[in-house]
Amino acid sequence: MINKHIPFRMCISCKARIEQNNLIRLQCRDRKIIPYSHEGRSFYFCKDCLKNAKKEKLAKALQRYCKKDKNNLIKMVETYKEKIFNG
Ligand SMILES: [Zn+2]
Repeated sequence: MINKHIPFRMCISCKARIEQNNLIRLQCRDRKIIPYSHEGRSFYFCKDCLKNAKKEKLAKALQRYCKKDKNNLIKMVETYKEKIFNG
């Protein structure tokens, strides 16, 4: 018997359903992309998308969740990617 339930969530960029522990939960707040703070609306990106997808594609997916214009979102994605992969 398997008792442990692993929740699957959808990556908003590639739309794949993935185990929650392989996703990164984020939200938009104060004009920034931040890790989920346990309140407000959140969304998931898979690690693969965050690392490899074009930032334009990530920004497009984000448009639904963050009410920002696309160029701003691209900048936000850039900043965030730098933060998690180079720092
Ligand atoms: Zn993905």
